Amino acid sequence: MKVLGIETSCDETAAAVYDGERGLLSHALYSQVKLHAVYGGVVPELASRDHVKKLLPLVQQALTEAKVAPKELDGVAYTAGPGLVGALLVGASVARSLAFAWGKPAVGVHHLEGHLLAPMLEATAPEFPFLALLVSGGHTLLAEVRGLGDYRIIGSSLDDAAGEAFDKTAKMLGLPYPGGPALARLADNGKPGGFEFPRPMLDRPGLDFSFSGLKTAVVVAIRGRTLDEQTRADVAYEFQQAVVETLVAKCARAAKQTGLKTLVVAGGVGANRRLRAELQTLGERRGLRVLYPRPEFCTDNAAMIAYAGYRRLAAGEHDDLKIRATARWPLDTLRGPASAPSP
Ligand code: ATP
Ligand code: MG
Ligand code: FE
Repeated sequence: MKVLGIETSCDETAAAVYDGERGLLSHALYSQVKLHAVYGGVVPELASRDHVKKLLPLVQQALTEAKVAPKELDGVAYTAGPGLVGALLVGASVARSLAFAWGKPAVGVHHLEGHLLAPMLEATAPEFPFLALLVSGGHTLLAEVRGLGDYRIIGSSLDDAAGEAFDKTAKMLGLPYPGGPALARLADNGKPGGFEFPRPMLDRPGLDFSFSGLKTAVVVAIRGRTLDEQTRADVAYEFQQAVVETLVAKCARAAKQTGLKTLVVAGGVGANRRLRAELQTLGERRGLRVLYPRPEFCTDNAAMIAYAGYRRLAAGEHDDLKIRATARWPLDTLRGPASAPSP
């Protein structure tokens, strides 16, 4: 079964083709990062307009690279939410209309289901059930993934998402948008011990996260100071360390609580090398298998949407002619393919 996947939930336009027998055949992506950088964040209206311009050429590129003609496809999958509604509508309209014109089934996919299943695109794919840490720009959660569409959220952030905390702290350090990866690079030159930041919520039981206090601690530490390059790197180092230690400690707790032996890490912050190194150590200590998508599939991409769509289409699910775009769509309201369709 061959599925075209389309992603436009935020500031990446992407298309990919996944084949149930041969795996991922192609993936094409255009990042709008430069477009939004001057504003210091994503401008929704500009994002939508740029998706309109870039999407069809990317679809064509993905099909050409996969050497798949539209008539050979078995369906079209697209991100139906959550995300920026105008941006989502572009991908949803194009995907649903292409499927209609080609006489193929279409399926709207939950963006976070895409992130959660992304490690299944790799050679060492996890099998259900597994524990998942999803750390992205908009979400921080721990979930018990029991099967396709069967996600039980056991911990989440009470305020900022991990990626958001990275981005906001990067901004305070004068780093350009998007700050997360830039902050991680700066931290490579940082020395430990120069600053002391809290490990939020570690002293409390449970699996929830909170990152806004940590952000405030950075504000307080640097307020009124002119920071030289080394000091900025030292702040970045200790900030990253505080986030990473918090995430790792909660993963350890969640593994103990659920008894699950596989941990899957997904979402943009999953590309963070420090986090990967510390989770590796945790895995070795606790007999926990830690799996990730390749770094480029940690952040937004269409490969994960094609894959999630393939799983749902293969299980017999598909949508009617309605074009679906839902800005807010809680992950735990999803169901497996056999049940009632989602909103
Ligand atoms: P969501 O998936 O929740 O809707 P999103 O799609 O914006 O949000 P992703 O694309 O999964 O999120 O991830 C982007 C986030 O990951 C940004 O906040 C970015 O700063 C962060 N990020 C990317 N690479 C790194 C890194 N190496 N270290 C830390 N953070 C990173
Ligand atoms: Mg993005
Ligand atoms: Fe995302």
